[in-house]
Amino acid sequence: MTDYSFREIELKWQKIWEDSSAYSMTTSDNKLYVLEMFPYPSGNIHMGHVRNYSIGDALARFMKMLGYSVLHPMGFDAFGLPAENAAIKNGVHPAKWTYENISNMRKQLMSLGLSYDWSREVITCDPEYYRWNQWIFLRLYERGLVYRQSAEVNWCPNDETVLANEQVIEGRCWRCSTLVERRDVPSWFIRITDYAQRLLDDLEELRGLWPERVIAQ
Ligand SMILES: [Zn+2]
Repeated sequence: MTDYSFREIELKWQKIWEDSSAYSMTTSDNKLYVLEMFPYPSGNIHMGHVRNYSIGDALARFMKMLGYSVLHPMGFDAFGLPAENAAIKNGVHPAKWTYENISNMRKQLMSLGLSYDWSREVITCDPEYYRWNQWIFLRLYERGLVYRQSAEVNWCPNDETVLANEQVIEGRCWRCSTLVERRDVPSWFIRITDYAQRLLDDLEELRGLWPERVIAQ
């Protein structure tokens, strides 16, 4: 009773699950898609991730036991300013930094024994993934749903980069404290207002299903 070797028992079963593809979909009938969210590859999984992913894992396992063929994938939301900032700060190429973090976080997630089908992993900075973003963009462009227009942005003349509002602290760049300028930069916009009425109309279908305060938001 006193000696329960977590390390030994967990590694043994995690290997058996992996070798037997225990978490891949078995049939195309009775399908269920369980997706929590993809973490940003900051370097380490933290307890906020563990809490979130444990809840999704409990649901995925429960539904599987009820007979559903569950698709439960994991991936990494891997584009963004943090990679650029880390690259500038550490003098490392953003791709190297990102893929090293992913490899560490994948190992950490695997050690938790969550029921993911790792053969379906997606990494959003992989060309194999973002070619589909480009494909969708072109379809929107062909239909006149994206357009180019000049937009005023926060600009740091020292770092020569655009800054998000939250990266401007009392009018200065959060990284180098240089005074931030407003600058006109050509930008792409998506014509979402074309769908505003349809969005409002379809909210009616969610009455009774979603909490009223969420619908109001
Ligand atoms: Zn700066």
